[in-house]
This record gives sequence, C-alpha cells and structure tokens, in this order.
Amino acid sequence: MSSITALIDRQRAFFTAERTKPVEERRKRLLALRDAVKRHESALLEAVKRDMNKSEFEAFTTEIGLVYKEITHTLKRLSRWVKPKRVRTPLTHFGSSSYVMPEPYGVTLIIAPWNYPLQLALLPLVGAVAAGNTVVLKPSELAPHVADAIADVVAESFEPEWATAVLGGVETSTELLAQKTDYIFFTGSTAVGRIVMTAAAKHLTPVTLELGGKSPCIVHSDADLKLAARRIAFGKFTNAGQTCVAPDYVYVQREVKEALIAHLGEAIKELYGAEPLRNPSYTHIISDRHVERLSAFISGSGTVRIGGQTDAAQRAVAPTVLDGVDWSSPVMQEEIFGPVLPVLPYVKIEEVFEAVLARPKPLALYLFSGSRELQQHVVDRLSFGGGCINDTLMHFASPFLPIGGVGESGIGRYHGESTFDTFSHRKSVLRQTTLFDIPLRYPSASSFGLKVIRKLMR
Ligand code: NAD
Repeated sequence: MSSITALIDRQRAFFTAERTKPVEERRKRLLALRDAVKRHESALLEAVKRDMNKSEFEAFTTEIGLVYKEITHTLKRLSRWVKPKRVRTPLTHFGSSSYVMPEPYGVTLIIAPWNYPLQLALLPLVGAVAAGNTVVLKPSELAPHVADAIADVVAESFEPEWATAVLGGVETSTELLAQKTDYIFFTGSTAVGRIVMTAAAKHLTPVTLELGGKSPCIVHSDADLKLAARRIAFGKFTNAGQTCVAPDYVYVQREVKEALIAHLGEAIKELYGAEPLRNPSYTHIISDRHVERLSAFISGSGTVRIGGQTDAAQRAVAPTVLDGVDWSSPVMQEEIFGPVLPVLPYVKIEEVFEAVLARPKPLALYLFSGSRELQQHVVDRLSFGGGCINDTLMHFASPFLPIGGVGESGIGRYHGESTFDTFSHRKSVLRQTTLFDIPLRYPSASSFGLKVIRKLMR
C-alpha cells in the first residue's frame, strides 16, 4: 500500500470515528491554525519572497491578511452556519416539519496553484475544516519554499489524520487524484481542471474547479480615466499580473484610448517607480518558461507603448502596455498571466459584447463607467464569474462575495460562508408525525381522496 493510500485510509478512519464532527473541536483547530500562521509569519513572508520576490506589503495584503480574515470571519459565524435550517413544508405533508442540515463530505483533497501559494491553499483548508472534513492539501511544487512552510504550519495545527500537506508535483497530484476521496477542490489552469474532473468522474467525486481565462476590463468614455488607470494598474501588475482575476486585457472606447494609456503610464510610475525592474518590491515571474512566453507576447503582438523590458536573469518582466493588438495577435490566444496589458479600442459597446460572448465565459469582468444604465446593461448582458464596477480585484477580498467561475472558468464557488457550503453536503430531512396518518397518499384512497389530492397538488 502506498503512503498516500495509507494516509487516506487513516483520514477516513478518523472521519468515520466522528473526530471532526464536534464543532468545538473544529473551532480549536482553526484557532490553532491562526496561531501557527502568526508564529510562522516571518518564515511565510520569507518563503514568498524567495519563491516570487513578493514584497512584505503584497504578501500580507494579498495572502497572509486574507487568511487571518477568513479564519476570523469563519469563527464568528460557524455556530450559525452549522445549524440545520428549517424550511417550509407543503400542505400535502400536513403534520410534518422539514429541515436541511449541513454535513461534512469526509476526506477532501485540495490542490493549490503557485500564484498566491499561501492563501489559495489555506482559504479552502479553513472552510473544509470548518465544515468538519479531513483534508489532504497539495500545495504547488512551483513555489517550493511556501510549500515547505505550509507543511510546517499545517503539521503544527492538526494531527495528520485530520489535515496534512502532501508535497510534490504532477506525479503526486496524479496519485492523489487516483484515490477515492469525498470532495476535490482544485485551483489552477483550465487544462489541468479537465484532468481533475476526468479523474473525479471515475469515483463520482464532486468537484470545485477554480480555473482561469481571459478576464476583460472595459473602460467607457464616461469613466474617471485617471482613477480607472490607477485601479487597472493595481489589478494588472499586483503579483506581476500572475493573478487569476487580473484584468487580462482592456477594451477602451476609442476616443479615450490615448488618454487612458497616458494615465496608465503615470499610474505605473506612481506604483512601481520609473524603472520597475529595479524596484526591489516588484514581484518576479514564477519560471523561465513563463518569462519566455511573456517575452514572445511582447515581441510578437502589436506595439509596446509602456514598458516592454525583461530581465531573464531575475525572471522579471516590466509592466507593459501593448497597443495595435487584435484578436488574432498571439497575446490574445491564451490567458496572459503576467504583467502584459493589451489595449483594444471599441466604438460601440455592442462590439465588446460580441467579442466577449463569442469566447469562453470569463472568471472576472471589470467595467469603468459613470453610467448606471451602462453598468446594469453590461452586468445583465455578459456572463462572468464575478467582478467589479469601477474597480478591479477587490471583489476577491470580500468574504461576503462568493468567488468562482462559470463555463470554462470554473465550477463552484468559495470564500466565507460559500466555502463552508462548498465543503458541506446539504441533507434534507422530513420529520413526520406519528399522531395520525392521513390516508390520502395510499392507493386505497377513495375517489374523493383523489379529488382532494388533485386540488392540493396543483
Ligand atoms: P496548474 O493547473 O498548472 O497547477 C495547479 C496544481 O495542479 C498544482 O498543484 C500542480 O501540481 C497540479 N498539476 C499540474 N499539472 C497536473 C496534472 N497534469 N495532473 C494533476 N495535477 C497537476 O496551474 P498553475 O500554473 O499553478 O496556476 C495558474 C492557473 O491557475 C491560471 O490559469 C490561473 O488563472 C488559475 N488560477 C485560478 C484561480 C481561481 O481562483 N479561479 C486562482 C489562481 C490561479
């Protein structure tokens, strides 16, 4: 028996013995996790610095801070979330009452990516534990220092039968996916999402797939352009564009394109200085392969209006704005996942609708416009996982807004109560009275009985 099979068996035995059931125990584990993250905070900051050159500011605001917030949010509300919810009962069921009760699935598998290696591993863990599951967590091998640090934090917070990190790459992931688990929560690329879902199908294991794609950012001529540029630069260049919900490209109304590009130039300078590649706080690209991929986009798509420099030795790519790009350009063929921002012009908003509707539904969508009418029109017309009006990324940081894709950008949602819901089966229960037994349901019911049923069931 492989060590992974043995681990899953031990977790299943732990779960079956109801060790994760008491809500007070779950709460204690979440407190232990919060304490462990606090104890290891400087090691975690150091690890993300080593893996991606993330600054302390970025590492705290986009990773560690979100983990603290999620734990606090969950602890405050867990006793409400776990309660069975009474629901109405129809007249045909006279005498009975009904409720829906959340119950944990059992052994869950969480597979995380490298781009926010900490929070994308720990946020699902928080919800899975809150819901009463055991967890096998596989962090990304591409952020190895963070993966080691996560393993330490999890080991100090849980016995391995409850939650543990299993380190490794594709092989380990494949072995984990071959096991029968009770829920799989995957964050990563759409291509690997398909592999995960195929593996899950074998055991009919339910999945959440948090995937990616090309998320549009629309800037209408009535937007506050200076503010839009700053918020777009923030959304695109945070983590050097390696953000699942980053604006992938900008669609800007033609008459304000030049003004927007000028404001983007100023915003980039304001956020990262005149020479971002020399800014010690500017995040690096995860691998040489991705630097090459991004360099090819820069040299092979339209013209560079801002940035364009790369530093292969440091694996850094400057915030770059491309003009003269169209849907046939290489940069528009796949999710960019780096600090390269193509700007495409449109005349009428219908052109944007047509282009977006012709492609897979995006994970995020952003609109900058002062018009309430246009805001409503865009939200009504286009399907997307989630997004913001007059901002970027910020919906991701609210525990009250479920995060997830639609179509090829994902299946399911999480954050806050949604994570608890994701990791809970909703069990429906009808409690019937034994004081009487209305004969209407039985085949021996009279023709008058049938008349009554006909009336009640309309
Ligand atoms: P990835 O799909 O390459 O890897 C994710 C995880 O899957 C890693 O742990 C990896 O070890 C594992 N994996 C890789 N190949 C595998 C295979 N063949 N079989 C089984 N497991 C395998 O993704 P990535 O490069 O780490 O992350 C980038 C992608 O993730 C982007 O597309 C991005 O948009 C997406 N993403 C989505 C979200 C979201 O919340 N929706 C968040 C972050 C990233």
